[in-house]
Amino acid sequence: MGKRILIVDDAMFMRKLMSDILQKAGYEIVAEAGNGEEAFNKYKEFKPDLVTMDITMPDVNGIEGVKMITAKFPDAKVLMCSAMGQEGMVIDSVKAGARGFIVKPFVAEKVIAEVQKLIG
Ligand SMILES: [Mg+2]
Repeated sequence: MGKRILIVDDAMFMRKLMSDILQKAGYEIVAEAGNGEEAFNKYKEFKPDLVTMDITMPDVNGIEGVKMITAKFPDAKVLMCSAMGQEGMVIDSVKAGARGFIVKPFVAEKVIAEVQKLIG
């Protein structure tokens, strides 16, 4: 059975892009969320094997989202999705419990490689 993934991004087209890349590689997308708080709620509900987490989102950003998830679920595997110039925020995310990061714009092979490192 495919590993289950939660995709978090405030931009629907980014979620679609990520979803397509991951589904083509055999992963199952169990849920999507548009900010950090929604991500936490979906995590609780679906207990996915992995979360891809955008950093810049309205209301509750990705760094806060990682903190919320890992505070309650220390084994959660969260991969940050960062844009150029967000290196500082990537470091903050890792301190908050993220296991790695993917750089935008997404390159399918690199996305898959990072996901495989964490969940096979
Ligand atoms: Mg965003």
